[in-house]
Amino acid sequence: MSDVLLRIEDVGVTYGKGATALSALRDISLDVRAAEVTLLLGPSGSGKTTLLQVMGCLLRPTRGRVSMLGQPLHGLDTEALTALRLAHVGFVFQHYNLFPTLRAWENVAVALDLKQVPAHEQQAAALQLLDRLDMADRATHFPSELSGGQKQRVAIARALAGKPGLILADEPTAALDSKAGQDVVATLQELAHGENCAVVIVSHDPRVEPYADRVLHLEDGRLVDDRRRHGNQA
Ligand code: ADP
Ligand code: MG
Repeated sequence: MSDVLLRIEDVGVTYGKGATALSALRDISLDVRAAEVTLLLGPSGSGKTTLLQVMGCLLRPTRGRVSMLGQPLHGLDTEALTALRLAHVGFVFQHYNLFPTLRAWENVAVALDLKQVPAHEQQAAALQLLDRLDMADRATHFPSELSGGQKQRVAIARALAGKPGLILADEPTAALDSKAGQDVVATLQELAHGENCAVVIVSHDPRVEPYADRVLHLEDGRLVDDRRRHGNQA
């Protein structure tokens, strides 16, 4: 069995209070393991993004317990949570969230800076990360000069700054054409299997499923299915 990166026990999230309170997650329990791609499926509004935010220490659950690498999160203050997130979690978003006025390598360097990598080492480190995503030859391009797939590769390079154990990707292929989307998911799978990362991908995209080791289904904030896939594309 691979390492448990994240343990989620009886977690619930309620947004708001009183008559307008909305229960976005109910009674969620699951482990997220290293070296696995977990795909999170479910209709719009079913709580996928909320669950990803709980996993990434961006949102404290209303109920239940979360621990990362064996450390319970509920006793931690905001500063400690931020430090934990910075040390262990990389995020990838549907719309890339790159800084438009920064070159590709500078977008990666911003994340290295947050990780306290010394300024004089940032450019070389950013280039190395871009090279892993086959993007070294686009390092001086601005986001507006890159295709969607290329922008997402820069975003993944940025997420890898500081070697996170957990990569959380919210609909990373939704804005990409078929080939670019498949390349992005294949890259995320390589990171999981080759570098022992835990990768969680939220997606509606059927092209993602063949790359997943495990598929979770959310409906109305509840986990209604959790199954392992065998013979995924290695
Ligand atoms: P999904 O990503 O599956 O579309 P979300 O996790 O974004 O679902 O949302 C789950 C439910 O919680 C939805 O009903 C949504 O409207 C609600 N919700 C999400 N974020 C907030 C928020 N910040 N405040 C209030 N309600 C929210
Ligand atoms: Mg969402």
